[in-house]
Amino acid sequence: MQTSIRPAATVVLLRDGANGLEALMLRRVKTSKFMPGAYVFPGGALEPGDAAPEVLERLSGIDAEYANRRLEIASGALAYWVAAIRECFEEAGVLLAHDDDGAILTPARVSALSAKRAALCRGELEFPAFLAEERLRLAARDIAYVDHWVTPPLRPRRFDTRFFLARAPSGQEASHDQTEMDNSLWLRPQDALARAAELELPVPTRAVLMGIASIGSVQRALDETRAKPRIVSNRPAVAKGSEGTKLFFSRDAPYAEIRWSDPEETTETTYDMVPGIAKRLDSRVTRIIAPNPGMMTGPGTNTYLVGDDELAVIDPGPAIDAHIDAIVAEAHGRVRWILCTHTHMDHSPAAAKLKAKTGATVIGMPAPDTPRQDAEFAPDVIARHGEALRLGKVTFVPLHTPGHASNHVCYLLDETKMLFTGDHVMQGSTVIINPPDGDMRAYLRSLEAILSVDTKIIAPGHGYLIGAPHEEVRRLITHRLGREAKVLSALGALGEADLAGLVVRAYDDVPAERHPAAMRSLLAHLLKLVAEGRVSESAGGYRRAAGP
Ligand SMILES: [Zn+2]
Repeated sequence: MQTSIRPAATVVLLRDGANGLEALMLRRVKTSKFMPGAYVFPGGALEPGDAAPEVLERLSGIDAEYANRRLEIASGALAYWVAAIRECFEEAGVLLAHDDDGAILTPARVSALSAKRAALCRGELEFPAFLAEERLRLAARDIAYVDHWVTPPLRPRRFDTRFFLARAPSGQEASHDQTEMDNSLWLRPQDALARAAELELPVPTRAVLMGIASIGSVQRALDETRAKPRIVSNRPAVAKGSEGTKLFFSRDAPYAEIRWSDPEETTETTYDMVPGIAKRLDSRVTRIIAPNPGMMTGPGTNTYLVGDDELAVIDPGPAIDAHIDAIVAEAHGRVRWILCTHTHMDHSPAAAKLKAKTGATVIGMPAPDTPRQDAEFAPDVIARHGEALRLGKVTFVPLHTPGHASNHVCYLLDETKMLFTGDHVMQGSTVIINPPDGDMRAYLRSLEAILSVDTKIIAPGHGYLIGAPHEEVRRLITHRLGREAKVLSALGALGEADLAGLVVRAYDDVPAERHPAAMRSLLAHLLKLVAEGRVSESAGGYRRAAGP
């Protein structure tokens, strides 16, 4: 049974202490059903009254359009600001409000409201009625949206929580409510983090504290938070496997695949990458990993079966009989097409045997006449850039993406925007650019080309599915340009150098035993720079070209 996910809001109350920024932490009572004994920020689930029009009218300093855009939801975001202010008053006794005429609430005025606060906590008084009786306006001016966390699956209670930073109004004393919270502390974020285990700080609480730990003042914390272009959501995923049930965050390699293959969060999906065992990735796509793991191939080459009653096989892999048998067994006679991204020996050689067994049509680009290519590869249909292929009930758009290989093609599955990238983009290791067929200039152009493709997820030739495709491609471009800058600065320092001399400096972050492989990429960078007129070469010696 799925646990419903309740929207919630949490406030990190901040003040400028003698030794820097301090945040208010409250301890949940031991009898609490959600995280008993843990130190947290005041907060809780949204209530219907938080979205009442008469309450929203009393919220000043923020408008609905900004709130919705900031929280990246279509409507209703203002209710989170209201809930944050309400929970802060109920749980911490701090009221982020002012009078109808704009006057700041005096500490005495807030103290006088303690009976009504208790009534609010007991549910005997509704927040809208309270605000109307006291003629209060809610002050959103000193509140900034800072983080978003969804409780992972399998927990008895799940919340979709928006975290806010707020300046504690001067003069108001925080006081925990005694029913939900039994202790309160003002702590510098770095001090709270140092005591994380003792304080039983939940993961989101730690993450928020880490985000503000190096900021010196309340004003800077609010300013820096508001200046962020967007707040990234955290929705941990759960999957099963050889190491038991595990929790994954967006920075973890299996994360995007778990989210994609288990959108309902049943947690009945695996993080294991086991050759020979078919894994269903969605209603159209199944993956079988070939038994060829290694430094260049990761867990092995990914073979994808795509379609319904008729299947297209993408990258049948190396000509290993056990792998071909696994594809045939999984397909149950449905293989109609074989698509190859390129003709390296770990991607296309199984095509001929699989065709012989199934009669499928082979699609791709012929192999170039360079070493380590599957020269036997004989496509029945040549994949042409941008010319859509309607294969049964699915449509693929081939994208010629030279760089790793001159005949490299990515295939966009139009129905779901899954992009099969072969070795153009892979998960877990750097793509080899090995001249002469490998071409760094072309590779970077082909990466740029992906940025204009409408794609939701990358299905690489090796490794897990990759989420946020454009972000990942931008990261790859930045990485390559960073290496190029290092090559140029090494040349600047050395004057003239050959490959062996340059690799030591330009790849000083790579272990020496990998320098022979790195020299191929270095050569690719140098060829690009020579082609661009930024470096000159004579008799194996490279130097920076004189500026224009
Ligand atoms: Zn390859």
